[in-house]
Amino acid sequence: MKKNLLSGVKPTGTAHIGNYFGAMKQFVDLQNSGNYQCHFMIADYHALNLIQDQEQMKNLTLELALDYLAIGLDPKKSILFKQSDVSAHTELAWIFDTLVSMPYLMRAHAFKDAEAKDKEISVGTFNYPVLMAADILLYNTDVVPIGQDQKQHVEYARDIAQKFNHTFIGSKIDCVNRHDEIFKLPEDLILKDVAVVPGIDGRKMSKSYNNIIPLFASREEIQKTVMGIVTDSGSDIPANVYAIHKLFKTEAELKLLYDANKGKYKALKEALIEDIDAFIKPMRERRAKLAQNPTMVHSILLDGAKRAKDIADKKLQEIKHAIGVL
Ligand code: AMP
Repeated sequence: MKKNLLSGVKPTGTAHIGNYFGAMKQFVDLQNSGNYQCHFMIADYHALNLIQDQEQMKNLTLELALDYLAIGLDPKKSILFKQSDVSAHTELAWIFDTLVSMPYLMRAHAFKDAEAKDKEISVGTFNYPVLMAADILLYNTDVVPIGQDQKQHVEYARDIAQKFNHTFIGSKIDCVNRHDEIFKLPEDLILKDVAVVPGIDGRKMSKSYNNIIPLFASREEIQKTVMGIVTDSGSDIPANVYAIHKLFKTEAELKLLYDANKGKYKALKEALIEDIDAFIKPMRERRAKLAQNPTMVHSILLDGAKRAKDIADKKLQEIKHAIGVL
């Protein structure tokens, strides 16, 4: 039997090569392996913590759906859907809210980071791990392909699954059979080499750091961002250029190139521009074609929503039965 896989991306801005190599490329590879029933969501309710504008939300959602299709996610092989189309996600999040303590959620990195920045934190941001646990657990998920920054969220999903199983199932005297458990424990899938893709300033690539190379960048954008990569003078190899170059070429290929161009930062950046552009070009062209047909993209998401809803609603019935409201 195929294993279940779920992951998603928030429609909060331009997808970048950190999203791609850290997570989205694995989405495509795992989909094409044929070993998984894949569910890929557009995490719009998570994005709502940041995007609070109707037009922007609509546009960013369509943009991300185009990204998914352009990288090779295939609605015939995978379920592609919008989180907000499947209300079981938020309903299950509430059920989990009643099981999870505040101090436990206060240990989450995302919450601590927001607190350290002295931001006024919404309840939605605070509860982010709970909604993500619901996203994952509704689909009997075995694996969650993600970048390193999401690792803790899968741990939260495992803890919450265990707590639920223990509270509602494990404590029953007649329950000796572990198959009676409602939730399986999901595993993260993080590829070591691309767990944290660096941005043009050497920090983690992130929209919020303004250090990204957009995944579908035009040649001009690639030129501009690569020329802006921060370099320390004094070393033969510009570390930040090399770290990004590693995503596109093998270490053996890079050795030849960097040995032949010691200290020549401009030449190395130009080589990187060529490599990124050659890699992105076919996806960029595919995306431009898809963008001409937004109706088709919307109907793919609608169909995905129906399929996701079938699975999620069935699971929710099981959960409601277990907690005694059904
Ligand atoms: P987000 O934009 O936060 O929804 O992220 C979508 C996916 O991309 C998540 O699995 C993240 O872990 C992953 N991701 C985001 N930035 C990076 C990065 N710089 N390196 C590796 N993975 C990343």
